[in-house]
Amino acid sequence: AKMPRKFIVGGNWKCNGDRPSINALVQALNTGESAIGSGVEVVVAPPMLYGDYARGLLRPDFGVAFQNCWTGGNGAFTGEVSANMIKDAGFDWVILGHSERRSLPEIMETDATVATKTAYALKAGLKVILCIGETLDARQSGKTDEVNARQLAAVAEKVSDWSNIVIAYEPVWAIGTGVVATPEQAQETHAQIRKWLAENLSPQVAQQMRIMYGGSANAANADSLAKQPDVDGFLVGGASLKPEFLKIAESWK
Ligand code: PGA
Repeated sequence: AKMPRKFIVGGNWKCNGDRPSINALVQALNTGESAIGSGVEVVVAPPMLYGDYARGLLRPDFGVAFQNCWTGGNGAFTGEVSANMIKDAGFDWVILGHSERRSLPEIMETDATVATKTAYALKAGLKVILCIGETLDARQSGKTDEVNARQLAAVAEKVSDWSNIVIAYEPVWAIGTGVVATPEQAQETHAQIRKWLAENLSPQVAQQMRIMYGGSANAANADSLAKQPDVDGFLVGGASLKPEFLKIAESWK
């Protein structure tokens, strides 16, 4: 954890679970209260339908995030959930721009769509975990920083106040693959993201922005990643469905 940035760990449950498995997971998470300590903010993102259910069972010091929202307010948008509804239902966070939503052929969210959602969610009073990151192809052709800059620039076109955004840098090649970025790779890319923020927004935004790492983070690799000066937390997928998530939350220490 690097002052003035409070470490933040998110659990992205994706489209997994049912009531019995959520009961068991939440029970396990609720036991770790003392060990985690006060140096970390923890947020879990259940599948949307279970948000309320999980909130009712979950320890109060953990926040709850949604995994998506509509691009605007309420109206004739069958099948969608608006940021206004998420806020009204008592939730503070939404994850936007996850690579699965950007790249699955059934979804294909563009940079512009992610930016529109981000702007609207902020306007509705939500905090946003904004996911960015490059594919394996992009990394191998030296385009990592260019891709991250492009995804950030799309948001900067529509958002001027970034104080309620945290960035999750999630290299697509590391998500769900077991191939975690090395601490050096993560640090290098996080530093480049911070540099982009300093040059394109302001040095103050850059200094205050929390940049989480995501992609095959687990209890075994979290400590060495967390030591990097520009790694301010994690967005965890697979390991967030297990009690080991608590160990990752403790990695700020
Ligand atoms: P993973 O997923 O930890 O299972 O790699 C991370 C994410 O998609 O947020």
